[in-house]
Amino acid sequence: MTPIELRTRPIVNFKDGRVRTYPSAEERLAAKVERALPEQCWEFQGTRNSKGYGQIQGVGRLEQAHRVAYVLRYGSIPTGMSVLHSCDNPPCCNPLHLYVGSAADNTADMMRRDRNVAPRSLANGRAKLSDVDVAGIRAAFAAGESCKGIAHRLGLHSSYVSRLVRGLRRPQMSGTTDGGPTRTDLPTSGEPPR
Ligand SMILES: [Zn+2]
Repeated sequence: MTPIELRTRPIVNFKDGRVRTYPSAEERLAAKVERALPEQCWEFQGTRNSKGYGQIQGVGRLEQAHRVAYVLRYGSIPTGMSVLHSCDNPPCCNPLHLYVGSAADNTADMMRRDRNVAPRSLANGRAKLSDVDVAGIRAAFAAGESCKGIAHRLGLHSSYVSRLVRGLRRPQMSGTTDGGPTRTDLPTSGEPPR
């Protein structure tokens, strides 16, 4: 689950040529969270699980709403880490109340709950694009969305998106079916003369 995946609107091509997009996970989360002041809890208004965590369809699977909120603000969750609440309020999706920690951190936190400051996230918002992200960007471009439009929607530079869709960036990615990139405009220094 990456920020880009969560912001991607699924595209469906119908046999009769119609193309439709569906709301992204980010848009569906926003519709179910009541935003309030930064210091207040923003509670998820949809279905909750037995422990009180919000449940929302993520990228191809059901996710806990606060985890989706975390990834959208700070980037992917490091492997083996949990997203914890400094406010101890399971349905809360206020990113300022969320941070990553180990299961051990979670236990330690419960013991010193009077502390009010949430530790800064270890993750940053500039997570590397996954292969799924890159495929999604190329699919959106193939479906007619402009590089500028894609870049704006996903918070990327349009020149980077342009290089991605032309295969000048990430050409080695599996799933590239059109014979790979043109390399004629890349520097050739270091190559032996023919
Ligand atoms: Zn909260």
